[in-house]
Amino acid sequence: MIVCIDGPAGAGKSTVARLLARRLGFRYLDTGAMYRAATLGAQEHGVDWNDPRQVARVVRSLQIDWLGDRILLAGRDVTEQIRLPEITQLVHHVADNPEVRQWMVQLQRRLGRQQHLVTEGRDQGTVVFPQAEVKIFLTASPEERARRRKQQLAAQGIHVSLEKILQEQQQRDRRDSSRAVGPLVPAADAVVVDTSRMTLEEVVDHLERLVRSRMPEGLAGP
Ligand code: C5P
Repeated sequence: MIVCIDGPAGAGKSTVARLLARRLGFRYLDTGAMYRAATLGAQEHGVDWNDPRQVARVVRSLQIDWLGDRILLAGRDVTEQIRLPEITQLVHHVADNPEVRQWMVQLQRRLGRQQHLVTEGRDQGTVVFPQAEVKIFLTASPEERARRRKQQLAAQGIHVSLEKILQEQQQRDRRDSSRAVGPLVPAADAVVVDTSRMTLEEVVDHLERLVRSRMPEGLAGP
């Protein structure tokens, strides 16, 4: 069974998807982390960001693996490093690249064939898993998303002003929504959930009920 959670940056997708996967006993897949790891790898190879063909060639040569919830680049754990603002600023070079996206889609579908997934990103319900049993589009107001991002960064010891986060978020929303391949749009059959006024617990409860109501016979756990 595949559960897709798509939505803009800061809507709470990662936390929600991780908790939901745990409750369901499914594997959690953070596809944003895959784009981020690819960005870090390309940067370390010294790619010319203005050369999309080179970017795609280098990215396709990278070895990106998962070890539980940890992401590995050529066997090295880069889970924390890929969250640095520097990577966030560069990631569009990789995410806007159609050839890279095609490759990512293949990797993600392969993982989806191996196990039940709660997968999180921008294009999971629209492009990667159009047949998914459950598609959720998680969103929240821009101010609320920025506030949460600020908190998240502060917890990692990174202090950025709310204004700067809002500004970058706006830029990222625009880029994510307007990209030619795999843009951020709700799938026609997605359930849109606005989390602005919901607690984390409420969101996860709501989604768990939704998933369980669509679970095929025999899959439903305790
Ligand atoms: O979700 P996160 O902020 O970690 O994603 C990093 C970047 O990767 C996003 O800005 C987005 O542009 C891109 N992305 C994407 N498609 C996905 C997941 C993430 O283009 N499925």
